[in-house]
Amino acid sequence: MTRPGPAPGLTPKGGVEESPLRTRRGRPCVGPGADTLRPYATVIAVAALALGTGVSVRAQPPALSVTHRARALQPGEAVLLVVTSAAPVADVRATAFDHEVIFYPGPTPGLWHGLAGIDVETAPGVYDVAVEARDAAGATVATARHPLAVSRRTFPTRRLAVDDAFANPPAGARPRIEREASQVEEILARVTRERLWGGEFTAPVPGATTSRFGRRSVVNGELRSIHGGLDLRAKTGTPVQAPARGRVVLAADQYFAGNIVIIDHGLGVFSFLAHLSRLFAVEGQEVEQGDRVGLSGATGRVTGPHVHWGVRVQGARVDPLSLVAVLK
Ligand SMILES: [Zn+2]
Repeated sequence: MTRPGPAPGLTPKGGVEESPLRTRRGRPCVGPGADTLRPYATVIAVAALALGTGVSVRAQPPALSVTHRARALQPGEAVLLVVTSAAPVADVRATAFDHEVIFYPGPTPGLWHGLAGIDVETAPGVYDVAVEARDAAGATVATARHPLAVSRRTFPTRRLAVDDAFANPPAGARPRIEREASQVEEILARVTRERLWGGEFTAPVPGATTSRFGRRSVVNGELRSIHGGLDLRAKTGTPVQAPARGRVVLAADQYFAGNIVIIDHGLGVFSFLAHLSRLFAVEGQEVEQGDRVGLSGATGRVTGPHVHWGVRVQGARVDPLSLVAVLK
């Protein structure tokens, strides 16, 4: 795994600004942009000539270049798309993995950032990201395509042989499980179209990882679950902190997750913090990074105390540590 450097244009701690080109050369995971620019402005210029206005003004198309930052282009990884526009544009959007990516201005003029997620179950292959820049009136002024070649990833698998009574929740719990699952899906579908988080994401507790993201559990020969987050060691009562700024959209007791807090960080990015012994956060509350949303515990279906931290990016389940890495 390649530890990514600072985002193009971001000033890292050393104070040296890194250009997108240098980033491209330096790191294999920062892909070169295979950008095709549609010359809308050229069309306008030609049309002006055809009208016989004699105006020789050549509108300059706002050329877009697209790069990305990721630990790896593999299932379960967050990808930071970095768009550079030569001319000012009002808005940048993209479609990646069938989801809309809403960009936000980067630290320097003309630089835009957008987060995409490669879901843990994404099949290997090349996925095109379609980028579009718009002017203040909402008209598309430039487009570009950026291919992301997702490679295969093998996740650790644990095989368990247990009594069926333990492998399956009781029939009486099923309505509750289904209700809670659909409630979470509804929450994830409501995308806040502004960025609520500030800079980096940080782990909710300082403990080491005890169960990695993506681990498969095969119970009695059948794939039963894929770990959609990572488990962090924390003895019961450890303060659980918001990984980044956002709004609490769920603070509830669920069958599997126990006491859970879901934080909406904006632009389709959500954190799940589960198995808490106590909830401090309430739904609708705005939290700053580091605010205590509860205390760790062992509620829900767990074998011991820990904090489960899950991250969704436009619905995709990604390793929270990949998000930490790309936003550093
Ligand atoms: Zn977990």
